[in-house]
Amino acid sequence: MTPAEAARRIESAHQYFQFLMDSTSVAWTDLEVRYRAGEMTLQQAATLVHPRWLPDGLVTPDRATRAFGGQIPNYESCQSDELWGYNCAFERQLETDHLFPWSLGGPTHPENAVYLCANHNRAKGHDVHLVPWTEASMNWLAREIEEVARLRRAY
Ligand SMILES: [Zn+2]
Repeated sequence: MTPAEAARRIESAHQYFQFLMDSTSVAWTDLEVRYRAGEMTLQQAATLVHPRWLPDGLVTPDRATRAFGGQIPNYESCQSDELWGYNCAFERQLETDHLFPWSLGGPTHPENAVYLCANHNRAKGHDVHLVPWTEASMNWLAREIEEVARLRRAY
């Protein structure tokens, strides 16, 4: 990863947190209108799935469980290069983690999975600065926003 790419990711996370804080006094439905009008950046849209927007006990289908099920393909290796830009030297059992952090609304879905060794999984934690912040890395976002909208309407 180039320094420019690292800086872009950090700036994206900064924009995300800024919008998350700035929108605390705004109604979710008002944000939804802006989202549907195409007036939001990817960073802003990602705040729409933050768990704070759903009443306690309501969860979207992809957040019903936190643990990723299924086998880790044996051709996978630690994806430290995608997050930090260097290849992993640890020969450790791989774990599946949420690329976009679970604590911020990231779904337990293969589109949001990253394979990391135990060391790099602990190092990643909930860090949203490590998200690539591209449409491709957040394929799940539009579907998750629709689920939040549906649950809020049904509540
Ligand atoms: Zn690793």
